[in-house]
Amino acid sequence: MSGQDKNDESVKSAVKQASIEVATPKRTKEIIAKYGFSFKKSLGQNFLIDQNILNNIVAAAELDETKGALEIGPGIGALTQRLAQAAGKVTAVEIDNRLIPILKDVLSEEAHTTVIHGDVLKIDLKQLFAEQFADVSGVSVVANLPYYVTTPILMKLLEEKLPLEHIVVMIQKEVAERMAAKPGGKEYGSLSVAVQYYCVPKVVCMVPHTVFIPQPNVDSAVIKLSLREKPAVDVPDEDHFFRVVQASFAQRRKTLANNLTAFVGKERREALTEMLLKNDIDPIRRGETLSLEEFARISRSMLEAGWGSQSVSS
Ligand code: SAM
Repeated sequence: MSGQDKNDESVKSAVKQASIEVATPKRTKEIIAKYGFSFKKSLGQNFLIDQNILNNIVAAAELDETKGALEIGPGIGALTQRLAQAAGKVTAVEIDNRLIPILKDVLSEEAHTTVIHGDVLKIDLKQLFAEQFADVSGVSVVANLPYYVTTPILMKLLEEKLPLEHIVVMIQKEVAERMAAKPGGKEYGSLSVAVQYYCVPKVVCMVPHTVFIPQPNVDSAVIKLSLREKPAVDVPDEDHFFRVVQASFAQRRKTLANNLTAFVGKERREALTEMLLKNDIDPIRRGETLSLEEFARISRSMLEAGWGSQSVSS
């Protein structure tokens, strides 16, 4: 970098630092008052007012000027502003049309930042990626998610197999713990398996409910999901694998043999017990003790036995 370039860079960063941080109690209250904004609980609107938490979120996302960030639910732009400073391209999808003019105003200084008005659950994300992120070397989702739709949003991101590097999101603490849970505990369930099939999860930090306006009733956590290059286990039919997992957790107090008998039909109970034993899986174990590899073995064996078409009965 030449001396002139370095000078330009430091001027740019000084300008960036000069743009007023949204994530302080004072500034957030000012913006809300200026626009007469009223919070909609039904949209999970709890705005972050803590700089340290923002630092943790942005650092975990491993962004630089060659990377893109997709933010879901920018609110009044507290995180968006930080992402714009860390990434080469930021696109934020916000459902509440009352926030769009506020975001335009708050983010007016930020280059390469696009706000899209829409419901992330309805948007064609493949098309959005093609339109917004053609020029970046990798994309991560970074968001303080609305809690009422956390799981549907994450499952949409994972199931659509978008070319993502990381998903760094603030979610309800208990949901983060379930996503990162290992076999053997009561937090481990079909959500843990689904997330760990696609990603390596890591809880980044716990977040008290006091760092939001308004304060939610629950505590939160930031979780980082790093997308695997290929799924954690090899299964011939993903849909069947996930139905086996769901069936195994259908009634948590029941044994695997009982839950899976309900799945494959009573007439196959004996054959099922034999198949589990052949796979070194004790039929009296509970679903919550099985690893992803063990669920995969069961799914593979069921398909080999031609038991692939059952639906989950619960
Ligand atoms: N990112 C901001 C922050 O950290 O202060 C706001 C986070 S707030 C927890 C969640 C945001 O998601 C709100 O702005 C809400 O309007 C928006 N939202 C809720 N449901 C949405 C959906 N289906 N699609 C896009 N945005 C949504």
